Parts: sequence; C-alpha cells; structure tokens
Amino acid sequence: MTENKAADKLLHVEDVYKEYDQKLVLDDIDFSVREGEFCCVVGPSGCGKSTLLRLILGQEKPTSGRVLIEGKEAGLPSPDRGIVYQRYSLFAHLSVIENVLLGKRLTLPYFEWRRKRAEVMEEAVKLLGRVRLEKDLHKYPHQLSGGMQQRVAIAQALIMRPKVILMDEPFGALDPGTREGMQAHMLETWEALGMTIF
Ligand code: ADP
Ligand code: MG
Repeated sequence: MTENKAADKLLHVEDVYKEYDQKLVLDDIDFSVREGEFCCVVGPSGCGKSTLLRLILGQEKPTSGRVLIEGKEAGLPSPDRGIVYQRYSLFAHLSVIENVLLGKRLTLPYFEWRRKRAEVMEEAVKLLGRVRLEKDLHKYPHQLSGGMQQRVAIAQALIMRPKVILMDEPFGALDPGTREGMQAHMLETWEALGMTIF
C-alpha cells in the first residue's frame, strides 16, 4: 500500500497484535482502507477475522498497535462504524421500518427526534426501497426470509451514515443462490451510495 498521511486513510489498522490467554490470534496486522474501498478478508474459520472486526468496531482493544479512523484512535464503538452480523441484528418485536428507525430514535435527543421524525422516516423508506423492501415496511422479522432480514440489517446500518460499514460474514447463513444474489446486490448498493465496506 502506498504511503500517505494517516488522515488520508479512512481506516488504518497499525501494527496490531491480539492475544487471548497468551495465544496469539492476530500477528502484526497492518493495512489501511481508503474512503470508497470495498475490502474483504478471506481466511479459514478461526483465523481471526471476527477478532479483527471487533477491534475495528472498538468492542475490544488490541494487545498492542492501534486502530485509527481518519487518523484518530477508534476508541469505543460509535455511529461512525456500522456493523452487519451473520444474523440476529433485528429486533423481533419491531417491524421492518421500526428496526431501521431505531438507531436514530435511540441516538437523537427526544425533541430533535420529534422534529426530524418525518425526514428520518423518508430516509428509512428510501433505504428500504434501495434494498428492495418497499413492500415489506410493516412486516416483522419472522415474516421475512433470511436474505430479506439481512437487507433490513444493511438498511439499519446505512441509516446511521457510518464512515465505514463492517460486515462479518453477512451472507454466511444464507443458501448459496440467495447469497450470490445478495453479493451482487451489495456491490450495486456500494456503487450507488459510495460506501466504504470492510
Ligand atoms: P474467525 O472469525 O476468522 O473464524 P475468530 O476471530 O472468531 O476467527 O477467532 C480467532 C481465534 O481467536 C480462535 O482460535 C478463537 O478461539 C480465539 N478467540 C476469539 N475470541 C476469543 C476470546 N474472547 N477469548 C479467547 N479466545 C478467543
Ligand atoms: Mg468469525
């Protein structure tokens, strides 16, 4: 990777080591991701992919080294990093649209939420159209297929406008045909919205 100032890189994982009980899981990981890049990590089960994502998310700290977002230490999880897991991102008692609105509802101060509700709702409907769920706004997760649930999870992450979207085997629980469709769809969404995906 070319050398440039730390701030030019959206994400910089710098000389990261991670040990659990003296077992080395990540051994000097160093890379950076620029805005708009779609970066994938491939490796066998247990090689440390989820661990790396947890460090970037800020859920755990590296044993040594640093994770930088736009040149600043990533710190604790924050809305600048969205995450989509393999499954279980949705609240079963909330409808599709309510699941997508939740992040905003929980992070905006009450009066601002009241004031912006219509605007946020419009954005949520637009994003759900983007992931082709415009007809399913009022369904509940149990009424959706696995692929549809993952598309809600993507809209749920996107509405917070994160600087980077982290995905941990987001389509791993889907059957092969659906997975392929989702991968193609994800590439389209990435291009259309200019996101940074890791
Ligand atoms: P992957 O996502 O690539 O399948 P993981 O990051 O989940 O791999 O795990 C990498 C290794 O770290 C595994 O050997 C796993 O057992 C170990 N590991 C992950 N989390 C912990 C933890 N909290 N405590 C101890 N060992 C862990
Ligand atoms: Mg994993």
